[in-house]
Amino acid sequence: MTETPPTIRAPRGPHRTAKGWIQEAAKRMLMNNLDPEVAEHPENLVVYGGRGKAARNWEAYHKIVETLDRLENDETLLIQSGKPVAVLKTNEWSPRVILANSNLVPHWANWETFDQLDQAGLMMYGQMTAGSWIYIGTQGILQGTYETFAGAAKKHFGGTLKHTITVTAGLGGMGGAQPLAVKLAGGVSINIEVDPTRIEKRLETKYLDEVADNLGDAIARAEKYKAQGVARSIGVLGNAAELVPELVALNWTPDLITDQTSAHDPMWGYLPPVAPDEDAATLRADYPEEYRKRAYEAMATHVRAILELQGRGAVAFDYGNNLRQRASEWGVQNAFDYQGFVPAFIRDSFCEGRGPFRWVALSGDPADIYATDKALLELFPEDERLQSWLTYAADQIAFQGLPARICWLGYKERDKAAKLFNEMVADGRVSAPIVIGRDHLDAGSVASPYRETEAMKDGSDAVSDWALLNFGLGIASGAAWMSFHHGGGVGLGFSQHSGLVALADGTPEAALRLSRCLLNDPAMGVIRHADAGYDLALDVARERGLDLPSLGI
Ligand code: NAD
Repeated sequence: MTETPPTIRAPRGPHRTAKGWIQEAAKRMLMNNLDPEVAEHPENLVVYGGRGKAARNWEAYHKIVETLDRLENDETLLIQSGKPVAVLKTNEWSPRVILANSNLVPHWANWETFDQLDQAGLMMYGQMTAGSWIYIGTQGILQGTYETFAGAAKKHFGGTLKHTITVTAGLGGMGGAQPLAVKLAGGVSINIEVDPTRIEKRLETKYLDEVADNLGDAIARAEKYKAQGVARSIGVLGNAAELVPELVALNWTPDLITDQTSAHDPMWGYLPPVAPDEDAATLRADYPEEYRKRAYEAMATHVRAILELQGRGAVAFDYGNNLRQRASEWGVQNAFDYQGFVPAFIRDSFCEGRGPFRWVALSGDPADIYATDKALLELFPEDERLQSWLTYAADQIAFQGLPARICWLGYKERDKAAKLFNEMVADGRVSAPIVIGRDHLDAGSVASPYRETEAMKDGSDAVSDWALLNFGLGIASGAAWMSFHHGGGVGLGFSQHSGLVALADGTPEAALRLSRCLLNDPAMGVIRHADAGYDLALDVARERGLDLPSLGI
């Protein structure tokens, strides 16, 4: 074990030290998750999303890397909450790694139990793509965030956010995508963030345009851009639990209001306001109960202000961080009076198995990603959203760590893209294998009643069988590595979800694995929503040839 945390950067290029490309890919993606360009706090192995980690501790990290380098092509490495626990003989078609992160038996599925186990060194919080080694920096969520704001524009503002102002908070790993996503949808945004280093990072990576001196200045700048119809993002340093109520006091109402602070985690995510002579970290360490109480109080104040702004005409939506639940636990009885973003704007996509599809060039060469961008534009010429997104992304997005891309594709699209990428590796159009994965935030991989499965048509919001079926199906279909997590996005006790990663290394074996797992994985989204009775999913199931015995399809 090293004393000073090492600075990690994944190896690049077409030569591997592991015994197969899947093992090499898993190793590079673990390392990439911890690259300082990618991770929010790599020194603590924290990738994003509060304390979402890639490995339990540095000792476990080094053991994982060593083990992946010696792992045979018919073996599987088991990872239990960030610690490598066993290598077993399986077979060549099995995943090389199976991961389980932060899972607890339902009765004990809460932060209190988790924290005890975490402090005893027995668990870690995997978030979604932190512990499953397929985080690609803020771009990873940009397309989804854009889909959400574009959905809001379509539903409430005639198709564009031009001449509107959005207020949000949190410029962390995921939340940092908000300013650029609102801008892409044509709007102006005010982004409240309590940590100046996060504001700096978003400015450096061009996700944020400018910083205001204070809230009044931010409003003045935003109003000017709104009047001019200019899409622009403004950061402002401060605590959302103070600044959002200040908007109410100023009698100023934005067009849209949401939030992406790490409210899923009251102890380590959402920061309560502190006095100038107080230090939040010291308060948390010395008086944890006082800290928790203050965090809850702050979240309740924050939500009351959002509700007030909604009452005054703002379109309010919850952005998947469980802020409403925290406030309701603290006595805000009408906290759920504003909707979550999935039922509000995303569910139709899920009915088509449409969701985030991401890929990473193991060569480290941006030219490989540009080649795949071009190939996808030619493969799906009729998809207007994809055309405009990929054209924009190729031109404007700064890569973090290994070059990567994301777009949203549906059932019977993702397998086509994966097949094409495998051919490109085989014929040398790209110079090394391509990793293909997705967020756990997807059509058929997650049970999360305050987010992805909020307000399901048949009331099956809390049924997590579907996430487990997705996990088993990915293993049976040839995933490179598969993961099952608890508590991602909305915190412990509120979600269960699975993650899939596949590899295009140009071999016929990879072609077969990709054709199965990239077909079956999005199929789960269609199946889950067809079973819940959504007409769109039923139509897609019929038209695209799924076999669903209980529905007569
Ligand atoms: P993060 O921990 O990297 O960033 C959170 C940011 O919020 C930090 O920069 C922190 O300084 C800031 N913050 C905390 N309390 C604050 C306060 N009171 N006022 C102002 N700023 C405050 O987390 P992230 O990866 O950006 O994720 C944010 C939240 O969104 C998490 O709860 C996560 O689970 C959720 N999430 C949502 C989606 C989605 O698509 N909706 C996807 C992934 C994650």
